[in-house]
Amino acid sequence: MKTFCGRANPTTGSMEWFEEGEDYDYHQEIARSRYADMLHDKDRNVKYYQGICAAVSRVKERGEKAIVLDIGTGTGLLSMMAASAGADFCYAIEVFKPMANAAVKIVEKNGFSDKIKVINKHSTEVTVGPDGDMQCRANILVTELFDTELIGEGALPTYEHAHKYLVQEGCEAVPHRATVYVQLVESKRMWSWKKLFPVHVEVEDGEKILVPPSEMENCPGVPSVCDIQLNQMPSSDFTTLSDVVTMFSVDFSKPVQSASTYYRVQLEPVRSGKAQIVLSWWDIDMDPSGMINCTMAPYWVKPTSALQWRDHWMQCVYFLPREETVLQGEKLYLAACRDEYSVWYHLQKARADEEEHKAAVCVESPVCRCRAHLLWNRPRFGELNDQNRTRQYIKSLRKVLKTDSVCLCISDGSLLPVLAHYLGAKQVQYLVLFFISLHFSLLFKANHLEDKIKIIEARPELLKPSHLKDKKISVLVGEPFFTTSLLPWHNLYFWYARTAVNTHLASSVTVLPQSASLHMMIVEFQDLWRIRSPCGTCEGFDVQTMDDMIKDSLNFRESKEAEPHPLWEYPCKSLSDPEEVLTFDFTKTVPQHCLSTEGSVKLLRKGRSHGAVLWMEYHLAADISVSTGLMQMSNEKGNCEWNPHCKQAVYFFSSVIESEILSDPTAVTYAINFDPKTGEIAMDFKL
Ligand code: SAH
Repeated sequence: MKTFCGRANPTTGSMEWFEEGEDYDYHQEIARSRYADMLHDKDRNVKYYQGICAAVSRVKERGEKAIVLDIGTGTGLLSMMAASAGADFCYAIEVFKPMANAAVKIVEKNGFSDKIKVINKHSTEVTVGPDGDMQCRANILVTELFDTELIGEGALPTYEHAHKYLVQEGCEAVPHRATVYVQLVESKRMWSWKKLFPVHVEVEDGEKILVPPSEMENCPGVPSVCDIQLNQMPSSDFTTLSDVVTMFSVDFSKPVQSASTYYRVQLEPVRSGKAQIVLSWWDIDMDPSGMINCTMAPYWVKPTSALQWRDHWMQCVYFLPREETVLQGEKLYLAACRDEYSVWYHLQKARADEEEHKAAVCVESPVCRCRAHLLWNRPRFGELNDQNRTRQYIKSLRKVLKTDSVCLCISDGSLLPVLAHYLGAKQVQYLVLFFISLHFSLLFKANHLEDKIKIIEARPELLKPSHLKDKKISVLVGEPFFTTSLLPWHNLYFWYARTAVNTHLASSVTVLPQSASLHMMIVEFQDLWRIRSPCGTCEGFDVQTMDDMIKDSLNFRESKEAEPHPLWEYPCKSLSDPEEVLTFDFTKTVPQHCLSTEGSVKLLRKGRSHGAVLWMEYHLAADISVSTGLMQMSNEKGNCEWNPHCKQAVYFFSSVIESEILSDPTAVTYAINFDPKTGEIAMDFKL
């Protein structure tokens, strides 16, 4: 079987489809999966084990045989727990073939083959009866089918089906119940991920303000969940407007309904403010009494208990359709609407006749009407709203623009053409892809810019003199930013585009940014290392087969590649000084030959080297640079502050070294190579 995989080509800025062998998909899935993270989640594992033991005991006390159905067995972990707890038989269902195969091996290695039957099917395909997959219905239902939003991985339809066809009435369920909690907050930072704030530009005769079009102001945005490591959001970045409220819960031991519905709770704000965001998380009770509880509550909710770090379950940020001023003590209703797979929120002020209008809250799932939410993802909104960043671009444009400047901008969904126009460039053109221009026409219209900035829908290599009114470009600008970029250096597409429009550039052209540089630093992660670290045994069960599988998949293709992570969510400490390793000169065209560098970095701090972090810095104009990675490195401890809008590249070392002795620093040697033919950067590190 062949699979087609879409990948952005950094030399063309567009998606390309590659034919890959059957193994490719599977290795991708395993290498990037969260299985390792789940196996490292001690809190989760311990509580599942306790809950399973308690459920098996309850069934045994009733004098029944304990027959377990484990839907989505993965490594077989929960079934092995059940078998150890004395279950008579377990049906372990796993739809993903490589995992089902792994489960068979792991179950065998741990000596449970006679108690656990692994079935490689989707649970809705499983049959019950003398000739079926299961001899009889189960009386214990065990699953771990939850994502950060709880229901996003299809837990509800799976439970609905299982209760109808696969388990007995009155069965035990582990977990027994899940509860979703919410808290209403005001947060300029998080709100800036959904709204475009007005952009203020000081000009000679006053101030110009770019305002978002009204379509954008009232747009509900996109339905995809915004899941983040909320524990990395400092309390200074938001104000809680309500207490934590229980929104809804699901009892997994009873029939479950997956059809769309809504839940509504009454709220009284604890302080007045602007209601913008609903923060949400859930917990699961492993037993009916609620004594075995596993919670995703963030740090400010239970400040005394130790937080378990995990990446497979985080917290959700929901954006209200519009900002609402609320007063302390007033009566509000918060509604959570959900379909089978996702949840969204509405806030309503209580009115006397409210009860009769309850049904009105069940609104359709959010669909972006202004197109901005399709063009700009949440970090991109945050980036465009970052005033410090905008100021750097304004300052640099001011340095390079003249009244007779003919300016061309190349970047996806960028406000630079508007800034260039406000700052007095004579002629501004914006080179874009088609879908981008639809959105921009709304923004331009709202700001009377339709005739001021010319949108050119063309690929750079197809630019014609007529597009530019037969003028040569005197200022070429880019942020650079492209939506197809995954890794920091993929935005070097700007360099390729600049090369493609070379014949249209005036001999004295100014290119902004004039250059980019790649920076690198060796780090110790506080937690992120877990996603790549082998587990060995998990609650006493040997899961090394899984470790080996992940290692194999990582080696399949990706071993010499970095992966993108937003490091503001994943704290690390630097063990070396940051180093500039490569530079890319945008005043010249892309060279034919590779750009390579080799060297060594000294480990200056005590710690465990988990990997290298790489990021780009753009040199906009003389002494003005913006970093897409490190913003600041604090004190002797090496704590890092990362650009909150960008993902950085992380290259995990295959083995970790401990640096201990400061007087004799250990060195890490590296070789880094930029291939202009592919636009990719390959790297190798030796410890
Ligand atoms: N139970 C394991 C793994 C949980 S991950 C553990 O707790 O460590 C969830 C697994 O469920 C994935 O491997 C996924 O492929 C599988 N899965 C999800 N829905 C399923 C369904 N309806 N039927 C069968 N497998 C399913």
